[in-house]
Amino acid sequence: MWYRQLHWQIIIGLILGVLFGLLASMLGWVEFVQNWIKPWGTIFINLLKLVAVPLVVASLIAGVANLSDLSKLSRIGGKTIGLYVGTTVVAVTIGLTVVNLLQPGKGLPPQMRQELMESYASNVEQSTQRAEEVQQVGPLQPIVDIVPENFVRAASDNRNMLQIVFFALLIGIGLIGIERTKAEPVRAFFDGLNEVIIRIVDLIMRMAPVGVFALIAGVLIDLAGSDPVRALNLLRALAWYGLTVVVGLILHTFGTYAVLLRTLSPIRLGHFYRAIRPAMVVAFSTSSSAATLPVTMERCERGLGVSKEIASFTLPLGATINMDGTALYQAVAAVFIAQVLGMELGLLDQLTIVLTATLASIGAAAVPGAGVIMLVIILQSVHVPVEGIALILGIDRILDMCRTVTNITGDATVTSIVAHSEGKLHLLVEEEVLRSDT
Ligand code: ASP
Repeated sequence: MWYRQLHWQIIIGLILGVLFGLLASMLGWVEFVQNWIKPWGTIFINLLKLVAVPLVVASLIAGVANLSDLSKLSRIGGKTIGLYVGTTVVAVTIGLTVVNLLQPGKGLPPQMRQELMESYASNVEQSTQRAEEVQQVGPLQPIVDIVPENFVRAASDNRNMLQIVFFALLIGIGLIGIERTKAEPVRAFFDGLNEVIIRIVDLIMRMAPVGVFALIAGVLIDLAGSDPVRALNLLRALAWYGLTVVVGLILHTFGTYAVLLRTLSPIRLGHFYRAIRPAMVVAFSTSSSAATLPVTMERCERGLGVSKEIASFTLPLGATINMDGTALYQAVAAVFIAQVLGMELGLLDQLTIVLTATLASIGAAAVPGAGVIMLVIILQSVHVPVEGIALILGIDRILDMCRTVTNITGDATVTSIVAHSEGKLHLLVEEEVLRSDT
């Protein structure tokens, strides 16, 4: 039966979560959902975060130790970063094109504009403060931040994923350089640990339908509270803007990536999207590429046949620096705010947005709401008042869910392409991965 398959159960969990969240909001069950439903979502996210660091460490060490020669590593790194940045520039360009064509900011009634600016003014202050902290660091700080001074401290915070990647790479490189007999048990240990954690991810995913249900119901209650009418009005006022972001995200997720996959890999498109669907749903309900990382890794390795030496390197890197959805949304949001405030952004401003949105998405953390903090920096670069962020905060959480889906799909696309180019896409994992014409 179709509904016995896990990915369908997750989708059913998602739909039931939406329906239940709406019902609970209409009936005023806010406390009930917060006390009895939401915690199951938190447990699900915590479990995923719990396995993320050990998974990256084990699979990266085992993966790198399998590489016969180290020059491969820099080649893989170069290709991966090149593709990540390239796709982000395309994403921003799509965002700018869509927002200039649809002009969502032109139709917002002045009274709604006033209301939004007033009700979200305090949230803007928080984002501005956090953006200032980001801006105060020196130009080389991002590189300094990759090198941890203490492994345990690095491993104690999932936001330090690049530090973990760096440390695991060092151990992997060390293993290649020592005597085979000494290296073998260490490599076998991490190989085994990697298998164990992948198995745990399988088990955690069995809880996904319930976790996704609880997360979605919780988000809806947070958004609508016990006044769904107000939430609906907000949604209606910002519908055109929200639609612009979603159209851009769909074009990029199912257009740009599809073209890249078709031209640069032998994977059938239908299979690709089907294989990563569980990761997409988890990204949608958690709004965090970092929390979704274990699922993305499992899907790329088991569903698409990417070898672990590639997936364990490119995916944590992607979760941290590759955020096409975020960059696209930031471009749309910046131009939308300018449109509402009656400002014209010329070609130079739009080019500045391409550059700053690309950099800002690299710097954004892989957690809910990170994109909106970096938006402050983009608005400042084109001299649009940051107070304008108040206009978009009302529906930001929903768009965050959508852009996170694009973010992880981008990671999986680049990973598949890099794996294929290195001969590391094991197409026999599931036969239908292959296009019939190849
Ligand atoms: N939530 C996004 C992510 O984790 C980041 C953002 O756009 O806020 O990928």
